[in-house]
This record gives sequence, C-alpha cells and structure tokens, in this order.
Amino acid sequence: MDLVVVMKSGAAADDVQRVVERVGELGLTPHTSRGEFRTIVGAVGEKTPELQQQLEQLPGVDHVMAITQPYRLASREFHEADTILDIRGVRIGGPHVNIIAGPCAIESREVLFSVGRAVKQAGAAILRGGAYKPRTSPYSFSGLGREGLELLQQAGAELGMPTITEVTDPRDVPVVCEFADILQIGARNMQNYNLLLEVGRTSKPVFIKRGLAASITELLMSAEYVLSQGNHRVMLCERGIRTFAEETRYTLDLSAVPVIQERSHLPVFVDPSHAAGKRDLVPALALAAIAAGAAGAIVEVHSCPDRALCDGPQAVLPARFTALMEQIRQVAAIVGHRVTQW
Ligand code: PEP
Ligand code: MN
Repeated sequence: MDLVVVMKSGAAADDVQRVVERVGELGLTPHTSRGEFRTIVGAVGEKTPELQQQLEQLPGVDHVMAITQPYRLASREFHEADTILDIRGVRIGGPHVNIIAGPCAIESREVLFSVGRAVKQAGAAILRGGAYKPRTSPYSFSGLGREGLELLQQAGAELGMPTITEVTDPRDVPVVCEFADILQIGARNMQNYNLLLEVGRTSKPVFIKRGLAASITELLMSAEYVLSQGNHRVMLCERGIRTFAEETRYTLDLSAVPVIQERSHLPVFVDPSHAAGKRDLVPALALAAIAAGAAGAIVEVHSCPDRALCDGPQAVLPARFTALMEQIRQVAAIVGHRVTQW
C-alpha cells in the first residue's frame, strides 16, 4: 500500500524537499507531482504504522493518506469530490453534461464549418474533428495535419466553441497545443506511455479514450501517467470494447460509467459513435450514456455522410443530432444533471 503526502497549497519548495528526503530515509521511493494548486509526494514501498504520523508532522504537509488502488492521483481516495474542469468557460464534470460533436475528420473548410454551425445551434458545447487520423489501413485518408488544425481553430473561434482533436505522436504535441483546446488520446494510443507523459507536461486538458481491449484499471493507470506529470485536467471516455458481438463495431461497456465514477473523481464521457459503428444505433446509446450519469457524449456528425472520408456509416445527420440534443436534455434532467446551454 502506497502513501501519498499532500502538501499544503503554496507549500515552500524547501518543505517539499524535506518530505522527499524523509521519504527516502524511511526506505520508500519518493515521487513528486507538482500540480496547478498543490504538490503531492507519493511514497512507494512497505510502510510501518508510525510512518504516516511522522510524515504528517513535517512542515508544509497538509495530510498523508494510504492508497489502496494502483493509481493514486486518479483515485477517489485521493480526491473525494468530482473534478470539475473549466475549459474556456465550459464547465465539465459533476452535474454538468456536455456534448462534444463534429465530423470524425476535418476534411474541408466547408464540411467542418457547416457541421460546426449545426451542432453549435443544436446545443453542442465542444467541437470535435481529427487532423491526425489513426487508420486501420495505411491507404486510408489520414487527416489534413496542420492545415486541418488551422481550420479547427478558425471554426472554434468563429463559433465560440472549445475544440478537441486527437494527437497520435509525441512530436505533434506542440503543434496540436498551438491550435486546439483539448488533446484527445485515441483508443489505439491509450497505452502509448511516451505520448501520455508528453501531454502530461502540457497545460491543456486531456481526453483519454479507453483502449479497444483495456480494462478500467488500465484506463485509470493511463490517466495516472498524465496526472503524474502535474497536468490535473483529465477526462476519460468509454468508446466500446472488443467482444464476440458482431452486430456493432464494438460493444459499449456502459457499466464503465458508474464503475469509474465510484473509483475516480475524473469526468467520464461516452462515445456512442465508435461503439455502434452505425448511425441508427447512436441515439439510443447516447441517451443510455446520459441516463447512466456520464459527463457527456462525443458524437460524430456529418452533413453528407455518404461522402465522408472517415467513419461515414456512423455519422448522424445534423437534423437527427438536433433531435437527439432535445432528448438528451430531458434524460439529463431525470438524473439530476444539466446540459450546458448556449
Ligand atoms: C475518433 O474519435 O475519431 C477515434 C478515432 O476514436 P477511437 O480512438 O475511440 O477509435
Ligand atoms: Mn471516427
């Protein structure tokens, strides 16, 4: 069982250093994480009963606690209240429900802006669109790269919406940070630890999608990688896992929502689009996610899905999305949540 020493906010660097040294003297391995508001020193190793009390007495220490899960900063034990993020005025987590919507990929200015306008008008809070697309085939459209990021930034600015886009390579982290508000870690990269460390060193919120065959503990360990670097603005997303079911692209594991909420303070989203793979199934899964208490959903929308360069079959049309938003508002109200309104 590991210990976590939570320093007082504004604790002096000397106090932190003293804790690190003391943890080392006690035969434990210290691990320091400097957050926006507080510094935390993890102490890994066998602990004696006196240890906790001894550390608690050091100057600058707020409290010391034992963590039973393999993840610490992501755990409810560490942070009892729901984490609520503020991303350019959009509040995420707790009772807030936010819908992220847009095309799978940024294909052109026309498609991005027309879909963006439609989803904004319907009440979506955040605009999505991929510029670096991880594709199963090396011959598929793999995104517009920097040019796509520029379009996304322009659309977000014009519509007044924060933007989210996937980053697949640690070398692209700076350019994605320059143009987008939220860094998406895709399912295929959930365990790309160098990428997780790199985004953890930025000050941008990070949205981590569950791997196709990852357990919930593994997803929370991925969040821990980001948190361990001092970036505490992390969101999680259930997007379907591989099972024997053939009728859908993946199987949406809705139980992940309450399970993660029990174990972690981080907001949990659901992606009904990639789980379903078929647009007709998307509304039912999106509503089920909101009913399960999710912090929101990320939905792929396209104005002309039969011409989409990526994931057309699962994209809902703007009109269907608008109707879905109304249903989402009603379901959110039933579970005591509120959809961010414009
Ligand atoms: C996406 O959101 O477009 C995407 C590629 O999702 P995932 O990583 O969940 O497959
Ligand atoms: Mn997609």
